[in-house]
Amino acid sequence: MLLKVNNLVKSFGGIRAVRDVTIGISEGSISSIIGPNGAGKTTFFNLLTGIYKPDQGSIDFNGRSLIGLRPDQVNKAGIARTFQSIRLFGNMTVLENIMVGTHSRLHISLPHTLLRTRRFKEQERLVQEKASMLLKFAGLSGKGDELSKNLPYGDQRRIEIARALASDPKLILLDEPTAGMNPQESAEAMSLFRKIRDELGITVVLIEHDMRVVMGISEHIDVLDYGQKIAEGTPEEIRANPRVVEAYLGRRAMGGGANNDSAA
Ligand code: ATP
Repeated sequence: MLLKVNNLVKSFGGIRAVRDVTIGISEGSISSIIGPNGAGKTTFFNLLTGIYKPDQGSIDFNGRSLIGLRPDQVNKAGIARTFQSIRLFGNMTVLENIMVGTHSRLHISLPHTLLRTRRFKEQERLVQEKASMLLKFAGLSGKGDELSKNLPYGDQRRIEIARALASDPKLILLDEPTAGMNPQESAEAMSLFRKIRDELGITVVLIEHDMRVVMGISEHIDVLDYGQKIAEGTPEEIRANPRVVEAYLGRRAMGGGANNDSAA
């Protein structure tokens, strides 16, 4: 197990957003965390990445505890993420946005930076080379000099992913990475997720509502509902699990529920 989360608990006032959740992620796997709206999925990512501190429970990653670490320290430990709502510097170029992701890996002091020493220039060149490599890897070749805000939505998601990869993670957490994409963009995004695992060896975890993506790409699925884990297993097992079907259909019958829940 690359990531082992045990009995994680987080409440906001009276809302128990994450209740006693235990999840393990195997190294080199592609898995998904699914569940109806408000199930606690994003809160779970926020706990993993140090944005929130759990009330109880343990988070062990790559042989060490992440409890008490700040988001930047979690990133240095080897976990990168993207957000549900795209967070890019719109007035910076695509390449510059990707370069931002490498900053936590730089070992250069302020005097070197201010004086633009040879060491600084060498580092800058390495950062640019790496960003160019990731630009190509993410399918953005030829778009490096464009302003990020001018690119279509699907490309902006790719920039976010490339920026996350620039920190050399062992694990990447993608929060609804295909939200708002059309079926063709989603299919292309799935190829990129597979490439991240197959070519870079990075473990991938998605929060995803689109069941075609979830069932098409996941080797393992964990299901949350009302903050609790209600099921885990292969796509086939999850599809056939009555508790999962009930969680989705029950919510829909009440007028809420997940988007794109057709396959559940
Ligand atoms: P979605 O699929 O809609 O993104 P989710 O499964 O990611 O939902 P969360 O966003 O984790 O669910 O929310 C879980 C519960 O915790 C919800 O009831 C939400 O309103 C609540 N919640 C999340 N963050 C906070 C916060 N900062 N303060 C108060 N309540 C919160």
